[in-house]
Amino acid sequence: MTPLLNVSDVRKYFPIRKGVFLRREVGRVHAVDGVSLQVRAGETLGIVGESGCGKSTLARCVTGLYPVTSGSIEFDGAPIGGKGFRRDVQMIFQDPYGSLNPRRRVGSIIADPLVIHRIGNAAERRRRVQELMELVGLNPEHFNRFPAEFSGGQRQRIGIARALASRPRLVVCDEPVSALDVSIQAQVINLLKDLQAELGLTYVFIAHDLSVVRYVSDRVAVMYLGRIVEIAPGEDLYKTPRHPYTNALLSAASVADPDLSARRERIVLTGDVPSPITPPSGCRFHPRCPKAQARCVREDPLLLPGGDHSAACHFPVVPGERLGAEHAGIPQ
Ligand code: SF4
Ligand code: MG
Repeated sequence: MTPLLNVSDVRKYFPIRKGVFLRREVGRVHAVDGVSLQVRAGETLGIVGESGCGKSTLARCVTGLYPVTSGSIEFDGAPIGGKGFRRDVQMIFQDPYGSLNPRRRVGSIIADPLVIHRIGNAAERRRRVQELMELVGLNPEHFNRFPAEFSGGQRQRIGIARALASRPRLVVCDEPVSALDVSIQAQVINLLKDLQAELGLTYVFIAHDLSVVRYVSDRVAVMYLGRIVEIAPGEDLYKTPRHPYTNALLSAASVADPDLSARRERIVLTGDVPSPITPPSGCRFHPRCPKAQARCVREDPLLLPGGDHSAACHFPVVPGERLGAEHAGIPQ
């Protein structure tokens, strides 16, 4: 079956310019650096990683907001950007405050995609807006109010209503709850899950919070420095992570959420995340990896396609293996 979304070897580099009129290119940020993945119709693919790993950039490439530097992205078998694409693929943003114009009434904000895509006449749009407000749990009579009259959680519901207005098939959610109070997060996540079931939506769900991603995702991809280092069905990834980086992420998360990784020891990663301007040679996790060997410095490990669970690592972690804090490191 053709995947709904097919991302092949996508790279997105941002030039760094200096000098008079910024004419001189002095380097490039390798924000997304060779990502391939497929999203199947009806599923939720979660993407996790620390801030700066490239997940938001990837989201913007997939929704056509950024042109890619190289590689290809297909939606429903055709290159993205074609007719109907902007109706079919929508995005929900992290910041419900920043993404709504404070001087516009919510009814007209939610109707934006209808106007852009010339869907319906004024009366039909009004009815559709009220239907959408009801769908996301807002009072449909409040369409004349301004964003400031709503709480943070309600504003994210406005953003969701706007994203759903054109009846998209794929919705890319970029950290949709991380700006919200913890008490509100579950409500918004449950709303997204209900909407998925009701409308048959496909989600790409981006977050840095592993427990949120586990709760919503069928499959999870882990990103590090512009690459996907591991991808697996959610259960497998959380129970038997193979990539040392995934192990470290889970062990750090287990401090806040013991349920995430029972009896997993905390792995302390040494060193900072390297610069995406000059990513390390070979495996880009090697400067911080407790299992690194000489081969890791030379050879870039591939994320092999096919199979349900794959990790880009020469020496994947086996179940029961303990990655201690005693950092073996690579022979210097
Ligand atoms: Fe660590 Fe080597 Fe695997 Fe990279 S390839 S994650 S450095 S063991
Ligand atoms: Mg981000």
